[in-house]
Amino acid sequence: MMTVPIIDLSKLCIHTATTKPWNIEAAAQYYARVGVAGMSVWQDALEGRNTGKTGRMLRDCGLQVVSYVRGGFFPAAEARDRLTAIDDNRKMIDEAAELGAPLLVLVCGAVPGQTLELSRRQIEDGIAAILPHAEKADIRLGIEPLHPMYADSRSAVNTLRQANDLAEKFDSRHLGVVHDVYHLWWDPDLRAETERCGQSGNLFAFHICDWKIPTEDFLLDRGLMGEGCIDIKQIRGWVESAGFNGFNEVEIFSKKYWEMDQNTFLDMIVEAYRNHV
Ligand code: ZN
Repeated sequence: MMTVPIIDLSKLCIHTATTKPWNIEAAAQYYARVGVAGMSVWQDALEGRNTGKTGRMLRDCGLQVVSYVRGGFFPAAEARDRLTAIDDNRKMIDEAAELGAPLLVLVCGAVPGQTLELSRRQIEDGIAAILPHAEKADIRLGIEPLHPMYADSRSAVNTLRQANDLAEKFDSRHLGVVHDVYHLWWDPDLRAETERCGQSGNLFAFHICDWKIPTEDFLLDRGLMGEGCIDIKQIRGWVESAGFNGFNEVEIFSKKYWEMDQNTFLDMIVEAYRNHV
C-alpha cells in the first residue's frame, strides 16, 4: 500500500513576494490549499485593498499573518527625506496593526555616496523616532541585516553582530532582529551571534531560501531551498537552539520562478521545505 508522507507544514510561511504573479487573494487560497500555515505580506500586495478586511480574509483562509514587509530605508542626504521615511514607517506600523501582523520587517537602508557610518547613525535615529509608536501599537520591529553586496543602496547593517548591537542599544521588547540565511550564511560568527540574538530575546523571525552557484542577478536570482550552497538545516538548528520556535519564512525573489506556473512553483517550495529545511 502506498503511504502518503506526513509533511508538517505548521511552521511554513511564505512571503507574498515569493509568488509575486499571484494577487494576495489567489496566494491565500493556494497556500492554504497545500497546507501552508503562515503568510508574510508585502506592502504592494495590499494596494487598492482595505487592510483590515484583507487581514480577516487571510485568517478566514486559515493563515496566520506572520509579518508585514518592509519598512526601514531611514538614511537620506536631506533631513526632510529622513522625516518622510519616519512618517512612512509610522504609517506602516499602523498598517501592520490593521492587518493583524505582529511584526514589521525593517530593511534599514543606505545611500550611495554617503558613508556607511553616517547611514548607520541615521538608521539608529530613525529607529529611535518610530519605536515609541511601535510600542504603543504593540507591533514588533525586526532589523534585518542584509548581505554586504547590498551595502551600496539597501542596507548599512550587514552582519548579525551589527543588528544585535543595534537592537541591544534600545532596551525594548518591541525591537529585535530578522535572521535571513541568504544574507547571513557566510558569516564566521553566525553561530555565536545567533545564540546571542536568542539569549537577548531579539530573535524575531527566520527567513529561508538558497544561494545559487553562480548567482546571476544580485536581487532577483534567489534559489529554492536545496538548490544552492546554504546549509539551511544547520542554521535552522542554531536558530532553534537559540530558542526560536516561530515560522520558517520562504522569501524567494526570482525572475526564473516568477515566470513559472505558480502552482507548480508552490509544489516545489513544499517539496524543498520537506527535504532541505
Ligand atoms: Zn529576508
